[in-house]
Amino acid sequence: MPYARRIIADNIARIRERMDATAHAAGRSPHEVQLIAVTKYVNAATAAVLVECGCTTLAESRPQQLWAKVAAPELAGARWHFVGKLQRNKVRRTLPLVELVHSVDSVRLLAEVDAQAAELGLRARVLIEINCSGEQAKQGFAADEARRLIATADAYRHVEIAGLMTMAALHGGRQTARLNFAALRELRDELAVSAPPAVRLDVLSMGMSGDFEEAIAEGATMVRIGSALFTGVSCDSA
Ligand SMILES: *Cc1c(COP(=O)(O)O)cnc(C)c1O
Repeated sequence: MPYARRIIADNIARIRERMDATAHAAGRSPHEVQLIAVTKYVNAATAAVLVECGCTTLAESRPQQLWAKVAAPELAGARWHFVGKLQRNKVRRTLPLVELVHSVDSVRLLAEVDAQAAELGLRARVLIEINCSGEQAKQGFAADEARRLIATADAYRHVEIAGLMTMAALHGGRQTARLNFAALRELRDELAVSAPPAVRLDVLSMGMSGDFEEAIAEGATMVRIGSALFTGVSCDSA
């Protein structure tokens, strides 16, 4: 583990340097961009190295793996986000464990989050997932669906819709990714004007290991980075 620790610490340092440089080049403050470390490729012991290195906000994309890692003693110092497909029957157990759900991809899911948050006596913080690439296989709302949803956001009284999230096209390369990210920012800017006063949409969650610089250049406030954190570390245990 000491060996893996050095590699991971180096990876984090290099990613943060690139994040900061990109933010500066875009005329933004590096403090506006939060690194969300996606731990789905590694076990709890390896994920704990991230926390030791100062990367304290972690994310999982599968509920069962989230639940297991939240319960792991070595990860007691972590804060958690959820970034993947959330089935409605997993909402109740997941909500109390996370600060933010990035991936609300349907009205039915949002309604379930609202209902469970009410029962649990909490306010769930969520992002609305947008399909910016137009790919059929992608989760998320089309722009028009998002407009309709945000117009009715007041109805979800136990949910704070904090912003938008997207995944870039799978095979389009960085150029297409940047267009997808620009589209998300433009949609956010438009919705922020038309949204009910209580809805602020400050968060833009976009960019992963292969395209986080494009995302930061286009206004990302959270980048979700997994594989680049573990380059050079053997990840045999998830
Ligand atoms: C896995 C995953 C990431 C991280 O992807 P990398 O390319 O490994 O950085 C980000 N967001 C979501 C939703 C993911 O499932």
